Amino acid sequence: MREILTAGRYFRAKYGFNVYKVPISILGFTCPNIDGSVTKGGCTFCENESFSPNLTKKSTKKEYLNPNSKTNPYLQNQLLQVSSQYNQGKKVLSKKFNAKKFIVYFQSFTNTYAPFETLKALYEKALSLEDVIGLSIGTRTDCVDDRILEYLKTLSHDKEIWIEYGIQSVYDETLKKINRGHDVENMLTWIKKTKEYGLKVCAHLIFGLPNETQKMMLDSLKVAIDLKVDSLKIHPLYVTKNTALAIEYKKGNFTPITQKEYIDTLIKALSMIPNNIIIQRVTAGIDDNSLLSPAWCRVKHAQMKSIKDALKEHGMLY
Ligand code: SF4
Repeated sequence: MREILTAGRYFRAKYGFNVYKVPISILGFTCPNIDGSVTKGGCTFCENESFSPNLTKKSTKKEYLNPNSKTNPYLQNQLLQVSSQYNQGKKVLSKKFNAKKFIVYFQSFTNTYAPFETLKALYEKALSLEDVIGLSIGTRTDCVDDRILEYLKTLSHDKEIWIEYGIQSVYDETLKKINRGHDVENMLTWIKKTKEYGLKVCAHLIFGLPNETQKMMLDSLKVAIDLKVDSLKIHPLYVTKNTALAIEYKKGNFTPITQKEYIDTLIKALSMIPNNIIIQRVTAGIDDNSLLSPAWCRVKHAQMKSIKDALKEHGMLY
């Protein structure tokens, strides 16, 4: 039986203990795909609150922080948010799993899309918190530059520094369809550069994007493997209310991937992935009334059971 290298197995082998991610959301952060710098409306599936438990209040446009701004009126609040959200997450994880060490996960929106001095202050604040061993920074490949990568490289000398990029698909027609706001070339350039800086890359792939065949999904995976990403998060595309995708779904223009198709694609994908790539996620869902479809994406433990059982039948232990 092949053991898939999960994040848990990776951290236990490296440090001898479990490491848990604490997701945080920063007031004033936005995304160039939402604020109009690149496009408006965001990726068609994006309702940011749907994947961020800490973001309880939608930012209004006037609260957005311009990345070119020389000043940042939110900085003190943002620094407080980092510590309060971390402490809250740590408390829950410590109680539930007896967790001892943590990575602060800058999850919502685009977490390199802010003035450089702000980013430095927030990252360094997070790294200064008790029991934090590193950062995971969710961002876009069109929102990094040499200055930020060089700086993150210096942090990575004694901390776990991960950059999370959405690849989603290596087909430009798909990226256009989901209003991604950057092309495949941009993604290739900046993932290669990030790797050249010696930083760890976690790439996100979505299976079931509009009009994608299984071959296209696996082509995206092949490119991620060729790019030598360090880790992958794979999940199905599901539709939540208040998104552009919901409108397409209601018009009958989008049919979500079935559980059977998803698991079949996932088994093929995991069979292709070399054992040194860490698999941080193999599915996703949302268990509240914002989910429109597919229903199988509602109950995470049921999804995980089906996936684990199917993997076992194919000789893989997740
Ligand atoms: S890049 Fe992320 S935050 Fe920005 S619109 Fe797309 S999903 Fe939303």
